[in-house]
Amino acid sequence: MPVVNPGESIVSLPPLVDPAEELSVDEIRRYSRHLIIPDVGVDGQKRLKNAKVLCVGAGGLGSPALMYLAAAGVGTLGIIDFDTVDESNLQRQVIHGQSDIGRAKAESAANSVREINPNVRVVIHNTVLDRENVLEIFSGYDLIVDGTDNFATRYMVNDAAVLLGKPYVWGSIYRFDGQASVFWAEYGPCYRCLYPEPPPPGMVPSCAEGGVLGVLCASIGAIQVTEAIKLIAGIGEPLVGGLQVYDALEMTYRKIRVRKDPNCVLCGPNATQKELLADYEDFCGAVSAEAEQAVVDSTITALELKDWQESGKDFLLVDVREPAEYEIVRIPGSVLIPKGEILSGAALSRLPQDKQIVLHCKSGVRSAEALAALKQAGFSDAVHVQGGVLSWVKQIDPSLPSY
Ligand SMILES: [Zn+2]
Repeated sequence: MPVVNPGESIVSLPPLVDPAEELSVDEIRRYSRHLIIPDVGVDGQKRLKNAKVLCVGAGGLGSPALMYLAAAGVGTLGIIDFDTVDESNLQRQVIHGQSDIGRAKAESAANSVREINPNVRVVIHNTVLDRENVLEIFSGYDLIVDGTDNFATRYMVNDAAVLLGKPYVWGSIYRFDGQASVFWAEYGPCYRCLYPEPPPPGMVPSCAEGGVLGVLCASIGAIQVTEAIKLIAGIGEPLVGGLQVYDALEMTYRKIRVRKDPNCVLCGPNATQKELLADYEDFCGAVSAEAEQAVVDSTITALELKDWQESGKDFLLVDVREPAEYEIVRIPGSVLIPKGEILSGAALSRLPQDKQIVLHCKSGVRSAEALAALKQAGFSDAVHVQGGVLSWVKQIDPSLPSY
């Protein structure tokens, strides 16, 4: 039975996994540094051997998580990822190497796991996790480690875990900041208790938009694996009801208490959500309704932009990304005015009234938001470039760097 102290935090939980029958001689040699820790011991190692853990994503957080879960002797490791390894992944996704570029991440990660520990049974799910398969895939595992980088998948992982009554270890990273927690609705809050609503589209940049210090993945991934091991073996105080916040620049770890939300639609006493949502992308919204409206009939492609430039059309090309991104790659002839200056209105007086304005960003999301603000301010003929600078690199000048 769980032991709860008067301050409501959970002090201990029973082990999540029953022990395997026995350890082989090879396994005893391999795991000897675990076996001699009294709290782990042979019993804890047998539980790890019997454990089935699924890692959602073999990217920044999934890389260290999978490597340490494998090394620790987790018997069955599932890897779900549909992406392929890109050169820009290698700065932090250390489970993949140079020769893996272009390979399926799930395959590449599975290779590394087998190399670290051949005792691990690896299950590859080279597929997109969606509402049709998430419950079936999750049901084959004891524990989920969530290494996703987008809100739609994150809410879906949470909902599926709560509906199945499974614990999952969540982590999130951005620039120099990381967070981790264990969500297990049976004993504590779920992700929706902490974040009932997704942030407005465009408000929270992704790592692809805002960057991440590579080594931050190791810091947060290590917390996730530590919590996974503790849950499996039933040792220590689990991070259920706690949010661990890491600031790499200050080098501080803070633990914030998170309570179950009595009004949570998913895990509260009067929960109204009894199944998965019909559409998680829709729930999180790729762009705001205003931006969606603004881009109708006001979107050009990179090819059209190139045509406009070559035909001598008179327009101002405005790059709404951040200065650091502008340094990496830019479309010739563009001027930099970060999105924030347009949304706040600060930059409006610098924009010409007598010229058409063409906005672009990295992939077309931020420029859509900026376009909505410009139209609101009376720049009715402004347009934005679909797919942003990434499209330009792909379709017009592949010699430029992507990021
Ligand atoms: Zn909840």
